[in-house]
Amino acid sequence: MHVTADRDVCVGAGQCVRAAPDVFDQDEEGIVLVLRQQAGDDRREITEEAAAVCPSGAVRLT
Ligand code: SF4
Repeated sequence: MHVTADRDVCVGAGQCVRAAPDVFDQDEEGIVLVLRQQAGDDRREITEEAAAVCPSGAVRLT
C-alpha cells in the first residue's frame, strides 16, 4: 500500500500519528509527515485506521 498525505489540507490534528506512529509524524507546526511511503501487510490495519480518523481527508492510500 502506497501512503501519501496532502500537507496543504492537513489541519495538524495528529490522529494519524496516534493511530500509526511509525507511519506518520508531524513537523514542528503539527503538519503531517509520512515516515513510510510503503505500508506492508503488517501495517495495513493501522494505516487504514489513520486514514479513517483523519478529519481533513489528507491521508491517501493507494
Ligand atoms: S490526522 Fe490528518 S489532519 Fe491530522 S495530522 Fe494527520 S494528516 Fe493531518
